[in-house]
Amino acid sequence: MTSMNSPSLRKCIYCLEEKPAEEFNREHVINEAFGTYDEDTMTLDCVCRDCNQALGDSIDLCLARGTYEGLHRLRLSVRKPEEKVIADAKARLDEVLLVMPGPLDGILLDIILSADGTMKVVPIPQVGFRRTDNGQWINLPLKRFLEGGKPDLPKCDKIRSLCNSDEQTEQFKSKVAEYELPLTGAPESLPAPGDDVWVDVRWHITEAVRRSIAKIAFNYAAHNQGAAFVLKAHFDPVRRFIRYGEGDCLDFVRVSPDRVTAEGSLQSCHFVALEMKDTRDVIVSVSIFNSFIYSVRLARTYPIWFRLACGHCFDPVDKRVYEIAATRLHIPGWTEKQRKPPPLIRRL
Ligand SMILES: [Zn+2]
Repeated sequence: MTSMNSPSLRKCIYCLEEKPAEEFNREHVINEAFGTYDEDTMTLDCVCRDCNQALGDSIDLCLARGTYEGLHRLRLSVRKPEEKVIADAKARLDEVLLVMPGPLDGILLDIILSADGTMKVVPIPQVGFRRTDNGQWINLPLKRFLEGGKPDLPKCDKIRSLCNSDEQTEQFKSKVAEYELPLTGAPESLPAPGDDVWVDVRWHITEAVRRSIAKIAFNYAAHNQGAAFVLKAHFDPVRRFIRYGEGDCLDFVRVSPDRVTAEGSLQSCHFVALEMKDTRDVIVSVSIFNSFIYSVRLARTYPIWFRLACGHCFDPVDKRVYEIAATRLHIPGWTEKQRKPPPLIRRL
């Protein structure tokens, strides 16, 4: 019984510590950066504040800002700017490079949302060095050049820069003098690219990204089956992977380039589906903006088999969550050898 003198303790599904209820706050099953769903929003009350904060500030930021999915947040804001579906969407990919034969090849870019609602790329302040051996340019962000010490470069004969202000230009000049770079040509300014150009966007599906995806899967299982289910020891390896980064990320999260085949407006929603396989592996499939499908193994050979199959579609534009008929988003290769066509996702 709960009383003022003996407050009931609650167990956190990530750190397993028992704490009073006031040390828990609302955990969103899917990181809020990917949308909220008014009364349909799925939340948990079994994640302590410490875990919520620590994971939100680390792995969840990596998923929201440094990924292809992060780029889609920008697109989504484009689609319905009046609703400001997802505030502060800003893609921060590892590298956005201009791919264009010639001296501008490989210059560093940032993706921005322009006033007319289209996505554009702009060069970031940077320094380029021309290699003596093959004439190719090596480009570094200006910030790294100014703050990172003398760069370790192959033999170069020319330097060029793109600075955004007179102050940056002065700092650049003084660093060139300070580093005593053996350059023969005088510094040049980076020419502006022309109108339409191709850019090559690169990102990495890092361990942090996999942990954040695994957290969505784990949260979903906790929401669907209750905290007591995921508190079982069978889930300890994935719990420790999510919370502390322990273990090999490939044991827990795999990614497939498949997309979910969905009806109409559901095509760019998020999908999460939970399933107990015949092998008694507990698997959750996660797709954010229907970019890729991640397959998360929450537990291997659970002691008993029971029917466990459910799925939801999260529509961040209409702010609705739907139950979906298909629970197998794809054939991820944990158990099946043969690939089968993905089922069509329908609302129930
Ligand atoms: Zn905790």
